[in-house]
Amino acid sequence: MQSPEKHEALRLRGIGITARRAEGRLRFLHRVKGSRRSKPTLGKEAEWARLSAALAAGRKKTALLYDRALQMLGENEARIFEIHAMFLEDEDFLDALRSEIFRGMSSEEALERASREMEAMLSALPDPYLSARAADIRDVSRTVMDFLTDDAERAETDGQPYLLVADDLSPSETILLEKSQILGFITARGTANSHTAILARAMGIPALVSVGTLDESIDGAYALLDAEEGTLSVFPTDGEIDAFREKLKSDDRIALAHDRYLRSLLNKPAVTKSGRRILVYANLGDSDEVAGALANGADGIGLLRSEFLYLGCSDYPTEEQLFRAYAEIVERMQGKRTVMRTLDVGADKRIPYFGLPEEENPALGFRAIRVCLARRELFKTQLRAMLRASSHGRLSIMLPMVVSVNEVRESRRLLEECMEELQRESQPFDSKLEFGIMIETPAAVEMCEELAELVDFFSVGTNDLSQYTLAADRQNPALDALFRENTEPILRMIRKAAAAIHSRGGWIGICGEMAADLHLTQYFADISVDELSVSVPYLLGVRGKICECN
Ligand code: PEP
Ligand code: MG
Repeated sequence: MQSPEKHEALRLRGIGITARRAEGRLRFLHRVKGSRRSKPTLGKEAEWARLSAALAAGRKKTALLYDRALQMLGENEARIFEIHAMFLEDEDFLDALRSEIFRGMSSEEALERASREMEAMLSALPDPYLSARAADIRDVSRTVMDFLTDDAERAETDGQPYLLVADDLSPSETILLEKSQILGFITARGTANSHTAILARAMGIPALVSVGTLDESIDGAYALLDAEEGTLSVFPTDGEIDAFREKLKSDDRIALAHDRYLRSLLNKPAVTKSGRRILVYANLGDSDEVAGALANGADGIGLLRSEFLYLGCSDYPTEEQLFRAYAEIVERMQGKRTVMRTLDVGADKRIPYFGLPEEENPALGFRAIRVCLARRELFKTQLRAMLRASSHGRLSIMLPMVVSVNEVRESRRLLEECMEELQRESQPFDSKLEFGIMIETPAAVEMCEELAELVDFFSVGTNDLSQYTLAADRQNPALDALFRENTEPILRMIRKAAAAIHSRGGWIGICGEMAADLHLTQYFADISVDELSVSVPYLLGVRGKICECN
């Protein structure tokens, strides 16, 4: 079907979120607002009951969103809604709502005021992770407001799937998008790294953000969304439509063939055309992801972010709790290797009961191995649990955020102390377990040769290595482009580290996000990287790309 409109073509640019294309009619999202402020109050008790009911409904909806995200996308993406649920249970927030109601406000006004205050308070926090939570409180309070006012968000449709246009979409709205109805979405605002973008990517929805305000006169117009190119073409010419459809057909053919090809590689070693094997490992943030890693043919786990067990507790987990969780993971890996990273707390990973000090620059502060070496009992509890679990499968230990030889020596000494204790207690462990470190700082790159004398392996954490090399906060969305455009210094550092490590017979992997960038796979093969560790959805793609490398 060709476009019936005879309007002048309009071409817009934005940030493409998924490398996909879609064609269809534009439908603007209309948020139907109730008159919030003018609502008379029903009396304090009745208003509080009304607001409490809306909060309860909000909690229920948030739990549903969490389950939906968990099922569709996995633990990492679902976590957004865990944060939403926390806000709806937060004592300070509930107290603020209550006191507004008992000062005579309506439920709508109370919610608007309390969330505005909380949003302002969060936005003013110096910690970028916490200040970014302001968007979450906005999202969650909108959910509750909808239950109060029966606000509806509607795009007028004729039942046909459409391209949704909105000023912005919250994560809650994104996760609820019906893939059978929504061909793609376009937002006036938004960034490439927002939670909404992360969800759209994980859901495979073509999306274009940050296109600027769109005139509603184009509501219903026919358009071509090319998220690969980052463009939206409204009222396209017939020639454009034909060319676009050719691309769609070829996308489909390629996707189908590629999918079949990748599945055929599932349980084969990833070997370059010149015969070099590169291990493809999985990065896991939680034990729930083990099944996904195995189903997608992971050769092992290259990074288990062990913070998850601490984040899920309200107090320090015991050695027994840690041991049981670690043993279960290595057992489920059935002889495949699991690299467990020791606790990387601090900076963006705050755990309240650790009582870590407030710092001006937490990313440069008291974190990771620094905390472990200052709190030895805590560190030894984790090391003992890992050692004990090593008798249940193939387990390696890896230290994060290393900057000096002394940190590694000291950690090794503590590991040996734990081994001696366990021996005395007749507790089994693998005395040959491999011990490695992450390369996440320029200091570690420079000290590779000396460090290689102390450890069995290295894994490059390109997320932090980029942050510290480019002097750019990885949590700051305004620096997205800076990270994307300056990979060269990081690649040179990896090459230098790989040469130093290989000259001493060691092995080096990469476990930061760069490991999943298929444009870099050939480079990593060229410098003989031994392992690439990526999140579960990227496992097959990386395996396929390695097989295409020379
Ligand atoms: C990294 O810094 O690249 C890394 C893998 O660790 P995290 O993202 O957990 O800091
Ligand atoms: Mg890191």
